[in-house]
Amino acid sequence: MILKELSEAIGVSGKEDAVRKIILAAIQDHVTDIRIDPMGNITALKQGTDKNRPRVMIAAHMDEIGFMVTGYDNGGLIRFAAVGGVDDRILPGLRVKIGDDQIPGVILWTPIHLNRDSKVVKISNLRIDIGANSKDAAKAKVNIGDRIAFDSEFVELSETTVRGKAFDDRVGCSLLVDVLQAEPYPVDILVAFTVQEEVGLRGAQVAAQTLNPDVAFALEGTTAHDIPNPAADPDDDDEHNPTCRMGSGPALTVMDRSMITHPRLLRFLRETAEQNNIPYQLKTQLGGGTDAGQMHLAGAGRPAAVISMPCRYIHSPAAILSKVDYQNTLKLIQAALHHITFEVLR
Ligand SMILES: [Zn+2]
Repeated sequence: MILKELSEAIGVSGKEDAVRKIILAAIQDHVTDIRIDPMGNITALKQGTDKNRPRVMIAAHMDEIGFMVTGYDNGGLIRFAAVGGVDDRILPGLRVKIGDDQIPGVILWTPIHLNRDSKVVKISNLRIDIGANSKDAAKAKVNIGDRIAFDSEFVELSETTVRGKAFDDRVGCSLLVDVLQAEPYPVDILVAFTVQEEVGLRGAQVAAQTLNPDVAFALEGTTAHDIPNPAADPDDDDEHNPTCRMGSGPALTVMDRSMITHPRLLRFLRETAEQNNIPYQLKTQLGGGTDAGQMHLAGAGRPAAVISMPCRYIHSPAAILSKVDYQNTLKLIQAALHHITFEVLR
């Protein structure tokens, strides 16, 4: 598992180079036909052992949410905008890294002494402080358009729990690397490490058209909101809306904003999990979309499904996931690759 390396690499949408480099090194001895398309997607083939099986595309996205430099204040503070979906309210006080040189900065905030009554945080009112005391000093260090990422270390919190940034979707990338590093499967795997998912599922659209698979899977990191609902009675343990729970196994999407999962494919995944004693959960929250939303529509269309790792606090510098969930997710993907046939899809 190369999750630590992938989590600490910086790859805000449209600038996935560092992640691509790590993945290429990890897969090059295990696949053929490696290509980097004009968008920056990595595509490759892991040849199967059985000619009469469906060709299975598996996608994981390399990009992460972040920010971009948009300007400078006269005093040397940096103006910035979001790249992908970010909750402005979590930003004040966070450490960030800017551009290829990873210039360190902190998102400024108004100290509590001066700010007791303000309830609204808007990114347009925030700035990044890089220690520059004039516009020229700031310009000398960072450029307009530079990507900005959370400054976050990967940490083992316990034997089974890890913390880090960008688990959405470096955990999917790490799982896909593990899938590829194993012995061949009966099916051909059409591999896609995609770009620009967080800004509109763009890389996957191109990769799916190129690869033209019979069936497609997206491996994702998804929201485990199994924490107290602030609006609920604090003494009632059941009063929350978990979406999915960390520690309860891979989440299988029934429907989201981008796709309704092909019912036979969903049933196949559920049966595969049950037959192999792998815990799983169903995800029905309609917000959010994944690369599967593009893959199932590309060309003449095809069945697609999403297999997700529950992660708490995604789209923040400190997401948390369970290594037990990781192993169960890997088991489910590998079992599916061994058992899927054209019969399942008809
Ligand atoms: Zn994602």
